[in-house]
Amino acid sequence: MLTCLITGGAGFIGSHLCDRLIREGYGVVCMDNLITGKVSNIAHLKGKTNFKFIEHDVTKYIDLDEKIDCVLHFASPASPVDYLKFPIQTLKVGSLGTHNALGLAKVKNAKFLLASTSEVYGDPLVNPQREDYWGNVNPIGPRGVYDEAKRFAEAITLAYHRTHGIDAKIVRIFNTYGPRMRKEDGRAIPNFVNQALNDKPITVFGDGSQTRSFGYISDLIEGIYKLLLSNLNEPVNLGNPQEMSILKLAETIISLTKSQSRIIYKNLPTDDPKVRRPDISRAKKELNWRPEVIFEEGLKKTIAWFESAES
Ligand code: UDP
Repeated sequence: MLTCLITGGAGFIGSHLCDRLIREGYGVVCMDNLITGKVSNIAHLKGKTNFKFIEHDVTKYIDLDEKIDCVLHFASPASPVDYLKFPIQTLKVGSLGTHNALGLAKVKNAKFLLASTSEVYGDPLVNPQREDYWGNVNPIGPRGVYDEAKRFAEAITLAYHRTHGIDAKIVRIFNTYGPRMRKEDGRAIPNFVNQALNDKPITVFGDGSQTRSFGYISDLIEGIYKLLLSNLNEPVNLGNPQEMSILKLAETIISLTKSQSRIIYKNLPTDDPKVRRPDISRAKKELNWRPEVIFEEGLKKTIAWFESAES
């Protein structure tokens, strides 16, 4: 049996990845310090012989006795509210945490997969974004703690690939949504859905003309799994190119939840990107991957999650 370490395995994306790898027959070691991850996301895996949870902060030395065949580094606060609350932890997990995870992959002779982000493109001057776009990031702005940590993480990952020959992969994840997002994580979809379900005002930042492209979690997980099995060592965008304004997102959520909520406008956060849309030609060509889930269908499942007792 092949065994994978998933750092950040109790988080939104990490826990879905644990599920997928268990289903594919891998052993999974899930590591999380639980600052933004939740034990309830992996509670259903507890007791399985091929699953193990270790509460550990990956910015500290990682000591594992078992054979590890792949290291998937997904630990990091990832919503703007979280990384503004944990700026130093965010920088540390992207830098020291990635270094530790790569060091472990090196001694274990394991494959390495880094969860990177569309935030490496910053407030992009081209739309859609291709992997060869270098980005437009403010290093000292409030979002810089996440953007620069991930940019460093990509740089050190490729340095380990070039210097030590590690089979390293980098996924640049665009806005993703679905069950197991936290109600209070501060992102647009959890905020709007929970505001709408409670008939509270929907807080659109700025005039709502900024755009995002939202991909459903199952599509992302499929792409990550294909990337893990591929020979690619270059970064790959994974996201849904269907782009919409944040105002349109708010209106869609009000209509799907049949909410009485009205829209109110709040200040746009500093350095909030004006547009974001993945060019997924590389993933299509190299991984034979494309998103399948229609936005309204994914949104309905996400609304059901937020309505359920589990969320
Ligand atoms: N946003 C908003 N209202 C909210 C939360 C977010 O208008 O209550 C906006 C935010 O300013 C950004 C977009 O929605 O333009 C997506 O924000 P999110 O936090 O989901 O992720 P980001 O793409 O900025 O990392």
